[in-house]
Amino acid sequence: MGAASKPTQGTDQPQPKSGPTTRTTPEPRSRSSGGRVRPSYSVLRARRGEEPRLDTVVEDLQACLQPKVTATCMNPDCSEACTWPNGRGRPPLFHDRLCHEKYHLIRRRLVAEIADIDEALERQPRPSSEERIYLENQLARRRWLLLRYPDLAIERSDRP
Ligand SMILES: [Zn+2]
Repeated sequence: MGAASKPTQGTDQPQPKSGPTTRTTPEPRSRSSGGRVRPSYSVLRARRGEEPRLDTVVEDLQACLQPKVTATCMNPDCSEACTWPNGRGRPPLFHDRLCHEKYHLIRRRLVAEIADIDEALERQPRPSSEERIYLENQLARRRWLLLRYPDLAIERSDRP
């Protein structure tokens, strides 16, 4: 070590493009740039010592760096943003109806295709090795895509 002359730069995480950054790792000796940056929640909790009392959670949540109020539309092909509602409304997952429909259509399709490929791989007599390789590749490709389409039913069912 001993390269203390280098400016603190390049944390191990890519910097978000815009807005106040959500810093998860507290930097020892961050540059005080004049503007007050709120500490992250985990920093505040750590400051309270071991096993901080639960009646301080609200206080720390109010004082900490606030989470973003916008998030991208759940349709992975869309770059529009959704905003956390001010009042009581249901937090939107999609920026419009079309994205909602597309999401569920594509998800349903992928799930059905994966089920079919799974069955084809299990059938008797077993597929030839060349066919099996093809099927496994097609399966992996769909699973890779499906990761972008998580099941949203759980999220919704516990909401009024
Ligand atoms: Zn959208």
